[in-house]
Amino acid sequence: MAYLFIPAVLVFILILMWLYAGPFFKGMPVLVYHKISSTKQPDYYTVAASRMREHLEYITKKGYNTIFISDMIDYIEKGKPLPPKPLMIALEDGFRDSYTDVYPMLKEFNCKANIFIVAGFVQTPDNLGPRAEGEFLHVDEAKLMGKDLVEYGLHTMYHHNYGVISPEEMDEDMRISKKRLDELGIPYQPCFAYPYAAYNKNDPAKKQAMFDVLKKHGVRYAFKCGDRLNNMSFKGNMFLLKRLTVNGNYTMQQFKLTLMGLIRITQRLERILK
Ligand SMILES: [Zn+2]
Repeated sequence: MAYLFIPAVLVFILILMWLYAGPFFKGMPVLVYHKISSTKQPDYYTVAASRMREHLEYITKKGYNTIFISDMIDYIEKGKPLPPKPLMIALEDGFRDSYTDVYPMLKEFNCKANIFIVAGFVQTPDNLGPRAEGEFLHVDEAKLMGKDLVEYGLHTMYHHNYGVISPEEMDEDMRISKKRLDELGIPYQPCFAYPYAAYNKNDPAKKQAMFDVLKKHGVRYAFKCGDRLNNMSFKGNMFLLKRLTVNGNYTMQQFKLTLMGLIRITQRLERILK
């Protein structure tokens, strides 16, 4: 039976690759980071600053070119070419370490990043907001980064879960989060990221209502998570663009597999072979 086993495993791997890494040969990775810390222990949402430096070193060495959301939009809407091996870095929520830890590294490696910013968490001198622990970006820091290596996308007013709130509440949330960013003078792209990666996957009616709310507010692109790459043809639903979660516990090898859109298939195989 052994002579059957090996081809069967190979076919199985090819099927999984086709399912999970279809765009692997010509896809655009969007890496998602949350917290980056030089002091805190790594966990799912916290990548060590030293490890992020290794990531940036690696992608630079491998010839990836980091792009802004606006570069992706110009490519999709105007056919403006992207650099070879385009890659998008997404920083979630607007934590202050995006400025203290990441921004110096972006400058050092000349990399671009995109922050999906929670509008109500941005700190200002007269209003420190509901989360005033110094954990989130100050408005001046956000604006400074916005001058060269950072673009912003929308990520709700107070990190609301769009899988839980109603379309009417989403509508109001979009209105006030855009208003706050406008008032603070933080420019943003017509792009949104679903907090908690909640996009009403199993409720088609609510999902469509959510897309309608996003459209009403001028959003043309939205990102979920899911360990896959975006096909460079960008056919399909622009409100379900894919991103790759960078788990703070990953080894460099697991990061490389994530970047190729192969982490899920690898983890699946590991579970099967255990
Ligand atoms: Zn978030």
